[in-house]
Amino acid sequence: MKTKTAYLSFNTNKKIEIIRITDQVSRVISDSGVKDGLVLVNPMHITAAVIVNDNESGLHDDYLKVLEKLVPYQSDYRHNDTGEDNAAAHIWRQLLGHQVVMPITNGKLDLGPWEQIFYFEFDGQRQKRVLVKVIGE
Ligand code: ZN
Repeated sequence: MKTKTAYLSFNTNKKIEIIRITDQVSRVISDSGVKDGLVLVNPMHITAAVIVNDNESGLHDDYLKVLEKLVPYQSDYRHNDTGEDNAAAHIWRQLLGHQVVMPITNGKLDLGPWEQIFYFEFDGQRQKRVLVKVIGE
C-alpha cells in the first residue's frame, strides 16, 4: 500500500470565499503514484468546509444566500460572547459537512462529469491549510 500526505495553503482576500481545488488534489494524487485508492480532503479548520459539486458561480452564490437565510452571519450567538465573531462560520461549515473522500481509479480522481472539489472558507483573511491524504495501491 502507498500513502501520501500533503497540505494545501490558503490565505483568502475575503472573509467568505469559494476556491476550486480539484487541480491541486489531482497533483497530489499524481505525486503519490497511487493508481487505485482513495483521497481524503479535510479543511483542518472549524470554520471551513470541503465539498464536491458543480463549478457554477450562480450556484455558489445560491449556497451563500441559503446559508445566510438559515444562519445570518451577523446575529446574536453565544459563541460570539467569547469575543469571536465567527459563530455563523462554524455553523455554516457544519451544515455543508466538513470533508470529502473521493475515489482514485487508473491514477486519477474518478469524478462524475460535473463534479469538482471546492474549499469553502467562511472566516478567511488568515493562513489556513487543507489536508490531502492519499491511500491505495
Ligand atoms: Zn469561533
